[in-house]
Amino acid sequence: MPWFSKKSKQIEAVPPEERVVKTENVFVKCDECEAHLYKRDLDESLQVCPKCGHHFRIGARERLALLFDGGAYEELDAEVISIDPLEFVDTKPYKQRLKQAIKSSGVPEAIVSGRGKVADHPVFAGAMDMSFIGGSMGSAVGEKVTRLIEHSLKEHAALVLFSASGGARMQEGALSLMQMAKIAAALAALDEAQLPFISVLTDPTTGGVTASFAMLGDIVIAEPKALIGFAGPRVIEQTIRQKLPKDFQRSEFLLDHGMVDAIVDRRELRGYVTKLLNFMLNPEITGASEMDRLRSRATSGD
Ligand SMILES: [Zn+2]
Repeated sequence: MPWFSKKSKQIEAVPPEERVVKTENVFVKCDECEAHLYKRDLDESLQVCPKCGHHFRIGARERLALLFDGGAYEELDAEVISIDPLEFVDTKPYKQRLKQAIKSSGVPEAIVSGRGKVADHPVFAGAMDMSFIGGSMGSAVGEKVTRLIEHSLKEHAALVLFSASGGARMQEGALSLMQMAKIAAALAALDEAQLPFISVLTDPTTGGVTASFAMLGDIVIAEPKALIGFAGPRVIEQTIRQKLPKDFQRSEFLLDHGMVDAIVDRRELRGYVTKLLNFMLNPEITGASEMDRLRSRATSGD
């Protein structure tokens, strides 16, 4: 009799594919502190590292779902998408670039618009998506933002915009730049109607988006450590021939210098926006008449 029984046969009985420990999509490494995080934990903390607070980038649809009551909203103007008015070709034709972007990003444009409620207040919101041609603003993005403002005006509702953008879309040339003026004009009308516009800057918010609606909020909120600026640091250094301070285009630097009103952790953002809306839409504070309130209720279908 042998002292040890052989167990190798039992091991071999396990099919090879089941012997591999499946770790794919279970762990995510934090870009900032390099901690290995359970994907499930990261999902639960709204894509914010539970160890160091690093804010991972998220998509437009996730943003809107995090804002609205119960994550529910009606998507608006999804049919407004870019065409190729200049028949532009860089390393590849713009038409082809658009097709690929729609396929890879899962969104029809670099912004998703929605109507819903935040703590029972009717709200129109738009969220930009970096995965669609770098969150760039072309004619379709400009039109969607303008329509959101017009919806807010018509239904007497608040506006919330989440920016995430590399700037104007170069493939549409001057047509992209014109969106900046178009949106600014619509926002002036919103201001006259005394309707609140809350602008949330996420990583990164740059170029023509910073130079237009992102910085025109009644309240401008930034996510922690987000890159926010107009031109990139290298361009500025070369232009002014000076060394720039460290982190000068980050949320914290901008808050210190009065460019943004608050830095809010993503996990507290919905509560923060609710507080702002409760305040800004309170007729006793804003001076709006009872009639206005009734009108807003009637049009929002309450
Ligand atoms: Zn971390």
